Amino acid sequence: MYAPLPLDPTAPPVTINLFSDTQTRPSRAMREAMLDAEVGDEQLGLDPTVNALCARVAALLGKEAAMFLPSGAMCNSVAILTHCRPGDEIIAHESAHIIEAEGGAPWALAGARVHGLHGARGFFTPDDLRASLRAPSRYSAPQTLLEVEQTSNLGGGAIWPLDVLQQLAGIAHEAGMATHMDGARLMNAVVASGIAAADYAAPFDTAWIDFTKGLGAPLGAVLAGSAEVIDRAWRWKQRLGGALRQAGICAAACLYALDHNVDRLAEDHANARRLAAGLAGIAGLQVETPETNLVYADVAASGRSPNDWAASLRAQGIMVSVMGRTRLRLCTHLDVTAGMIETTIAAFTAIN
Ligand SMILES: *Cc1c(COP(=O)(O)O)cnc(C)c1O
Repeated sequence: MYAPLPLDPTAPPVTINLFSDTQTRPSRAMREAMLDAEVGDEQLGLDPTVNALCARVAALLGKEAAMFLPSGAMCNSVAILTHCRPGDEIIAHESAHIIEAEGGAPWALAGARVHGLHGARGFFTPDDLRASLRAPSRYSAPQTLLEVEQTSNLGGGAIWPLDVLQQLAGIAHEAGMATHMDGARLMNAVVASGIAAADYAAPFDTAWIDFTKGLGAPLGAVLAGSAEVIDRAWRWKQRLGGALRQAGICAAACLYALDHNVDRLAEDHANARRLAAGLAGIAGLQVETPETNLVYADVAASGRSPNDWAASLRAQGIMVSVMGRTRLRLCTHLDVTAGMIETTIAAFTAIN
């Protein structure tokens, strides 16, 4: 599904980077915050800036405890390793990042397979979940974890309704399963919906937020849960090499992001809506109205492949990503201005 464009050394410099919100660059002010960070040995619990960040994210997500990790993918792997044993089955949407974009980590690291449920926009229903549950038997894999993505990446940045999340987690818990939220873009959902992060995270045993997407930090993600779960998760953090040293220098960027880069996600959402409206007027493009910062354009009806569209845009300094056989993804973030959106719409119009 995820198909990064091969780097073409002859292409002009990228002036408008809609490839992903991972492309954000740490600002000068963020770098200055890093410069002044107090640091210590993180894996001994002695880094005051990491400790402050973990306390802040635990409170934000309404959990007892939290741990700092280098990446969101490591948050997913640590959580899966903590909740599952080899041979277990995880239930998620078929487009989930843990299936599509983490190198098969649940299978490779935890020995757990992920069963993907169907459904538009990255969603499945409580009935879908119920139908996927088997009575425990010696023949079948134990189903031990429900995983959802808020927002759904390949679902177009769609926001799971809170009551659906509560129902899904209720069903999973009743079946004796643990629940995990991939909150790579949870703060986009929070800003777009006005619903608190703690409310979205409440039905989940573990939840994490990423600082390298729209929040604009160079690295870092924080996984939260009960003190007991985070305590068990520490062994996996250590085993995977995710136990760090003077990581406060990175945590300082994350604290800066919480203070300065959350509310402004609303601008990214407005830019995404404007972009979608502009692209929807172009013949051959099928564009859904985005709820957050991801704009997917299906180019099947244009008679050109998404790679072809992406290459034509790239020749004009605009980088987008290709998702599967028919879709382009354009992602707005803090380095994308309203003016760049207009330039992008004009570039699409000119290609067409
Ligand atoms: C980016 C992303 C991840 C992985 O986060 P990294 O910090 O890049 O490792 C996981 N899940 C979703 C939905 C993502 O978009």
